[in-house]
Amino acid sequence: MFRGELVPCFEVPARVDHVLAELEKRRLGLVVVPEAFDGSVLLGVHSQRYLDFLASAWDEWVGLDVANAERDALPSVWPVRTLRSEVLPSNFAARMGLFSMDAGSPLTSGTWEAARAGADCALSAAVAVAGGERAAFALTRPPGHHAGADFFGGYCFLNNAALAAQQLRTQGFERVAILDLDYHHGNGTQAIFYERADVYFTSIHGDPQTEYPFYLGYADELGAGAGRDFNRNWPLPRGTGFDVWRATLQQALSDIAKFGAQALVVSLGMDTFVGDPIAGFTLQTQDYLQVGEDLAKAGLPTVFVFEGGYAVADVVFSNPGMSLKAEEVENF
Ligand SMILES: [Zn+2]
Repeated sequence: MFRGELVPCFEVPARVDHVLAELEKRRLGLVVVPEAFDGSVLLGVHSQRYLDFLASAWDEWVGLDVANAERDALPSVWPVRTLRSEVLPSNFAARMGLFSMDAGSPLTSGTWEAARAGADCALSAAVAVAGGERAAFALTRPPGHHAGADFFGGYCFLNNAALAAQQLRTQGFERVAILDLDYHHGNGTQAIFYERADVYFTSIHGDPQTEYPFYLGYADELGAGAGRDFNRNWPLPRGTGFDVWRATLQQALSDIAKFGAQALVVSLGMDTFVGDPIAGFTLQTQDYLQVGEDLAKAGLPTVFVFEGGYAVADVVFSNPGMSLKAEEVENF
């Protein structure tokens, strides 16, 4: 739903197809199918009543009217401020609003299966890194960083990066950092870990004064309770270029080192690219090689989780010389 009309989502399956094709063409490491995890692992991040809703939502929607099978479900009412959010109404539309933050993220027939597959992908990447891999990239779709413990929005349903971080904690990494590089603030991830000292969250993003998600992502959000000083936001104005963005990245990496992170989760949104249709930074294709070098210098076992990025066909190099050589693949 955009400006009063139903329009196609920018978040489409072709995004993953493009990335997968490039990964295979450039031989950037082994491509593996994620393992399927038991649903109970999702409770490390999400609430039971939210998961129950997501799992049954499509069947409920179609159960209201068989004609609904041909149309997506969108929320239309929300429990803002003085309304109650601890009540769980039986009405479907009421629960849809309770568990969502915007009207731009429709539920479709495949939403739950896709969200589960995305979570499996992120969890599998975390397991690979916990098992000794230097890095793993989770090609997740839908993305996850806007999803909170009990709500969806911003095309996100399950918080893949948060699940990966929690999995790393479970497998013995005592201090995990999450670095969110998507153009949009990772409000869901921040909120999930806001009162925890074991998972440091930092995000570089478009200033929420003007950019989605608007209501979180400001510089004065530093964490609360035990999590005080374990949250750090770097809002930057629309139009920010790579020099300023990279200097900010280096500050964020310096803070991650001071935190003493033993593992890193990168929420890798590619919508910082100059050609992105719904974002406003001006990073160029070659800048991402520098970003990769800067991240590698952090020297941490790293799970990369794919988030946004809607010009994926344009962001890649057309030069086949950018592929790794056989011995580089061996060492990857
Ligand atoms: Zn984004």
